[in-house]
Amino acid sequence: MEKPSPLDSMIARFNEAADIINLDQRYRDIISVPERVVTVNLPVKLDDGSTRVFEGYRVIHSTVMGPSKGGIRYAPFVDLDEVKALAGWMTFKCALVGLPYGGAKGGITLNPKVRSIDELERITRSYTRALKDVFGEDSDIPAPDMGTSNREMAWIFHEYSRIYGYTPGVVTGKPLHLGGSKGRVAATGWGTMLATMQAIEKMNWEPEKSSCAVQGFGNVGSWAAKLLADQGVKIVAISDHTGGYYNKEGLKVREAVAYVKEHGTLEGYTGGERITNEELITLDVDILVPAAIENVITIENAEQIQAKLIVEGANGPIASDADKIVDEKGILVVPDILANAGGVSVSYLEWVQNRRGHYYPEEEIREKTAPILMDAFERVYQTHKKYKCSMRIAAYVQAIERLATGIDLEGNF
Ligand code: NAD
Repeated sequence: MEKPSPLDSMIARFNEAADIINLDQRYRDIISVPERVVTVNLPVKLDDGSTRVFEGYRVIHSTVMGPSKGGIRYAPFVDLDEVKALAGWMTFKCALVGLPYGGAKGGITLNPKVRSIDELERITRSYTRALKDVFGEDSDIPAPDMGTSNREMAWIFHEYSRIYGYTPGVVTGKPLHLGGSKGRVAATGWGTMLATMQAIEKMNWEPEKSSCAVQGFGNVGSWAAKLLADQGVKIVAISDHTGGYYNKEGLKVREAVAYVKEHGTLEGYTGGERITNEELITLDVDILVPAAIENVITIENAEQIQAKLIVEGANGPIASDADKIVDEKGILVVPDILANAGGVSVSYLEWVQNRRGHYYPEEEIREKTAPILMDAFERVYQTHKKYKCSMRIAAYVQAIERLATGIDLEGNF
C-alpha cells in the first residue's frame, strides 16, 4: 500500500485539529495552501566541464505571523510536494512556539554526497541569485536543513550581500565568524533533548533508567543523542543512512560522534552490534528518537514498535495513517513541530543579534530559548489533556488558534 506523502500527512493532521476546534472554512482555505511557490532551474558548470541543470524550490507557506522562515534541503528525493509539506510545518512550528515568523522551505534535488565542494558552492550561489527577490531579512529567511549546514548558509549570506550589501540577517545557521549565533549548531538536538526530558518527567520515569534509540546521526540526531546521554539517558542504538549500531549496555556517543567526524559516516563503527534502520525502529527501548527523514514509521511497522515515548527530531517521521496505531498502543508522541523547534528558536535569536549588531554568550541563548520551548511543551501537553487528543493534534490546535487570531487581526484586504 502506498504511504501518504508528507503533504498528505500534513493536511490530514491539519484537518483533524481544525475539526476539533470547529475552525471556520475561511481559515482552512487560507492556511491549507501555500502563499507562494517558486521553482527555479539552475544551469551549473560541473568540475568535468559539463553543464547540468538542477531543479530547486522555495515555498512560502505563510507570512501571517511575520517574514517566512525555513530551511533549505539538499537531497536526491527532494520534490515540490515535500517542500510544500515542510514549509507548512514551519508555519505551524513558528506559530506554536510564538516566534514572529511565518513558514517557508526550500530545496534542491541533488545528492550532496556525490558533488564536490566547488560544485555545491556554485549550485548554492546560483540558487541564491535565482531567489534574490524572494529572500530578505524582512521577507524570507532561510536556514540549514538536511544536506546543508553553516557552510551553505555562509555562501548564501555572501552571495546575497554581494547584490544588496552586508545583510547577515538574510539567513540563519551561519558560521560563528560570519554573524552566526552561539548554540545554533546544537540547537535543534538540544531542543529535542529538552522535550524528551519534559516527556520523561510527565511519564514519571527516571532518565538513568530510560533507554533510547536514535535514528539519524547528523546534526539533529547526534546532538540529541549526545545531550540525552549527558542527562543520564542510556543511548542503546544509533544509525545513519549506512545502517545502525546497538549495544544493550549503552553506546559511547561521544566516541561515535568523533568517528563520524573522522570518517564522514558511521560505516565501519565497532562500538555496537550491527542492525538495520528498520530493526532500530522496533527495538525494545523506552524512547525512540527518529531524527533522519520522513515516513520511517508507517502502517507496516507501527504495530511492532516497543518504545513508549517517541520524540520526533526529524520532520514527519510518522506517516499520518500510522498515527492511529501509535496512539492506540498508548505511545506518547512529542510531535516534530514541537520536538525540533529548538533550531528555529535559536535561529530567531541569531536574526535578532544580526539586526542589533550585538551578540549574546551561549548561556544567554539557552536562558532565552529554554522557557520558550518548555512553555510550548506545557501548552501542548495541557491541550492534549483538554481535548483528549494526541500531542500532535494538540500542537496543531495551538498553532492554528494563533494563526486564526493573526488572520483576524490583519483584517480584510
Ligand atoms: P543531516 O543531513 O545533518 O543528517 C541526516 C542524518 O540522517 C544523517 O546521519 C543521515 O545519514 C541520516 N539518514 C539519511 N537517510 C536515512 C535513512 N534512510 N535512514 C536512516 N538515517 C538516514 O540532517 P539534519 O539537519 O540532522 O536533519 C534531520 C531531520 O531533522 C530532518 O527531518 C530535518 O528536516 C529535521 N530538522 C533539522 C533541523 C536543523 O536545524 N538541522 C531543524 C529542524 C528539523
